[in-house]
Amino acid sequence: MLEAERKQGQFPLLEMSHLLYGGKDYFDKFLERQSFFDNHPLFKVNHNFYNMSRQDQILLNAERTVEALKKLSLADPNYYTPNVLCPQGIFISTVHFAMVIPAFQVLASDEQISKWMTLLKNLNAFGCYAQTELGHGSDVQNLQTVAVFDKQTSEFVIHTPNIEATKFWPGELGLYCEFALVFAQLQVDGKGYGVHPFWIRIRDKETHKPLSGIEIGDIGPKMGYSVKDNGFMSFDHFRAPLDSLLNRYIKVSRDGKVERQGNPKVGYGSMMYMRNILCDQYTKFGGRALTIAVRYSLYRKQFKDDNKQEIRILDYQCQQQKLFPLLAEFYACVFGSVKIKELVNDNFNRISQQNDFSLLGLTHAVLSGAKANYTYFVANCAEWCRLSCGGHGFAHYSGLPVIFFEMSPNITLEGENTILNLQLARYLLKQLQHVVSKPNAVPEFFKFLSLETAKVDDVTTLDNLITLLGLNCSILTKYAAQKLMSHTDMKESWDTKAGIALAKAASTFIPYFNMLCFLDTINNKAKETKEILTVLARIYGITMLLNNMQGLLLKNQINSQQIQTLQDTRESLYPIIRLNALSLVEAQGLSDNSLQSLIAPKDGDVYQNMYNFASKENSLNKQQVHNGINYIQKMREVNAKL
Ligand SMILES: Cc1cc2nc3c(=O)[nH]c(=O)nc-3n(C[C@H](O)[C@H](O)[C@H](O)COP(=O)(O)OP(=O)(O)OC[C@H]3O[C@@H](n4cnc5c(N)ncnc54)[C@H](O)[C@@H]3O)c2cc1C
Repeated sequence: MLEAERKQGQFPLLEMSHLLYGGKDYFDKFLERQSFFDNHPLFKVNHNFYNMSRQDQILLNAERTVEALKKLSLADPNYYTPNVLCPQGIFISTVHFAMVIPAFQVLASDEQISKWMTLLKNLNAFGCYAQTELGHGSDVQNLQTVAVFDKQTSEFVIHTPNIEATKFWPGELGLYCEFALVFAQLQVDGKGYGVHPFWIRIRDKETHKPLSGIEIGDIGPKMGYSVKDNGFMSFDHFRAPLDSLLNRYIKVSRDGKVERQGNPKVGYGSMMYMRNILCDQYTKFGGRALTIAVRYSLYRKQFKDDNKQEIRILDYQCQQQKLFPLLAEFYACVFGSVKIKELVNDNFNRISQQNDFSLLGLTHAVLSGAKANYTYFVANCAEWCRLSCGGHGFAHYSGLPVIFFEMSPNITLEGENTILNLQLARYLLKQLQHVVSKPNAVPEFFKFLSLETAKVDDVTTLDNLITLLGLNCSILTKYAAQKLMSHTDMKESWDTKAGIALAKAASTFIPYFNMLCFLDTINNKAKETKEILTVLARIYGITMLLNNMQGLLLKNQINSQQIQTLQDTRESLYPIIRLNALSLVEAQGLSDNSLQSLIAPKDGDVYQNMYNFASKENSLNKQQVHNGINYIQKMREVNAKL
C-alpha cells in the first residue's frame, strides 16, 4: 500500500537524505550505525520494556550501553545518533561525555588535563556534572554549597550548609559515577570568590560506597528518563585536595593566595557543547515522531467517500493541518541547526587558536534562542504527532509517548528555555542600541533590527516572508525596550514589568533565523529538490507569521486581507506536501527497528502487528489468571456490605 505513495514523491530521495544529515558521509555513518543496532539482539524492538520495573529497565540499559560502547566512540558528539535509534533510554555516560569532559577541557589547567583526560576518556575517572541544587538551578550564582579553603592543610572543605544546598538532579550521580564536578562557592580567608568547579572523588574505588562525609542516592521516578540515575548528594565538611579546583581561570596557592587569570567567559564553551548537541541531534526526534504519524495516517482509514471507499486520514485537511506545518518546521530546524553548528565551531576555533572572542556574544545568543526554540518544537511535535494518531498514539507500542517523555526535559535542562530566551533578548536590545550608535558593529543576522516598516505586495514569497518575520521581531524588540525603559528601576522592570515582552520578542528571532538558513539551503539545489523545499519553507514561514504576528499587528504592518492570503496560500500548498509526505519523512532513512513503532512499519499490516503484540507478546498476559483477581473478590465483599 505504501509503495504507491512512495512513487508519488517528486524529488530525489538521496539528495534530501544527505541534506538532512549534513552530507553523504554523515548519512552513510548514520546508516552504518543503524544497521549495527538493527542486527544486534539486545537492540531489537522490545515493547515489554514498558512492562518492566525501573530497576530492570536500568539494568537492561546498562547492558545495552556496554554493547554500544563496543561499536561506538562515545567521546565523539556524533555518537548521539545511537540515542536517536535507541529511544528507550539514554546510555550511561552521556553526561560524562557531553558535559563533564567538555567542562574539563575548558575549565581545567593544562596540567590537570594531562593528569585526567585519559582517565576520563577511558572511564577510569567516571563523573557527573553536579551543579543544580534543591533550592537553585537556573540561578547558578546563588548556589549554596561552599568550598572553604583551609590554610592549615591546603585543602578545600566542601560543605552543604542546609537542605536547599543539596545537589539534586545530576545524571549518573544516583548509582554510577565515582567522581563529581561539584560547583560550589569558593571562600578563602572569609572572602567569597563566586562559584567554581571542583573535581572530587565521591565513591570508594573498591567498594563503590559513598566516601565518608558524603551522602548520595537516586532522586526517584520521573516523567521519562527512567533509566537515568539523576541523583542527590550532600557534603558534611568533606575534605578535597588543593588541585580539585579546576584552575585554568582561578588559582589558589598552598598558602591561600587567590589569582585570577585569562578570560573566564570561555566557561560558556562547555554549555555550548551540550546545547549544540541538543539542537543538532535531538531535533531529529521530531522527524522520528513525524515518520510515525505520517505513515500511520496513510495506513489508517476512517469514514467513507462518495464512492464508498474509506478515506485515509492523511487526506483530511484537518489532519494535514496538524502534521504538515510540523514537517516544515522539522526541516527548518534541521537546516538551522547546521548553521548553528558552523557558528559554534567557528567561535570555538577563534577562541582557542587566536584568543579572539569576537563571535562569543553572537554565538551564545543564537544558540540560546535555538536551544529554546528547537526543544519546544520537538516536544510540541511529539505531542501533536501522538494526538494525530488517535487512541493508538497513546500506547507505548506506537513509539510516540517515549519521544515526548524523553524529549520534554530538554526544555528545562541545560538552561531553562524562558531564561535562555531572556538571554537572547538581552543581546537583541544591545544590537538595537548598536543599530543607532554603531551600525557597522551589528552582525549580519541582526541587521533586521533597523526595520521600521515594510511594503510588500505578495506576503507569501520567501523573500517577503523573511522580511515580515524580521520586521515582526524588530517591532517586538522595540516594544519590549520601551516597556523596559518606562520604569526607572531597570532590574525591577526587567523582572516584573517587561519580562513577557522580552521573552516574546526573543522567541520570534529563531523563526527569522531559520528562514534565512532554509533559503541558504534551497539555493543551488537540483530543480525538484528546490521546488519541494520551497514549498516547505513557505509553509514554515507562513505558519511562524500566523502564530506570532503580534508585532506586525501592533504597527499595522499587516491587514486582514493579507492574513487571509497567508492562510489560503498555506492550505493551497498542502496537496503538494500530501504527495511528498511519505518521501519527506522517509528521507531520514529510519529503519523499522529504530522507529520502534508497531503502527508505522515500512510495509505491513499495522492491525496484525498490534494484535500480535497484545495477544502473544505482552508480558502481562503471561499469567492466564492474574493475582490481582483476588482483589475483585475483596471489592465484591466491600460492596456487599453497602
Ligand atoms: C532530566 C533532567 C536532567 C538534569 N540533569 C542535570 C545534571 O546532570 N546536572 C545538573 O547540575 N543539573 C541537572 N538538571 C537540572 C537542570 O539543569 C535544572 O532543572 C534547570 O537548570 C532549571 O533550573 P530549575 O530547576 O532551578 O528551574 P527554575 O529556575 O526554578 O525554573 C522554574 C520556573 O521559574 C522560571 N524562572 C526562574 N527564573 C526566572 C527569571 N529570572 N525570569 C523569568 N522566569 C524565571 C522558569 O522560567 C521556570 O518556568 C537536570 C534536570 C532535568 C529535568
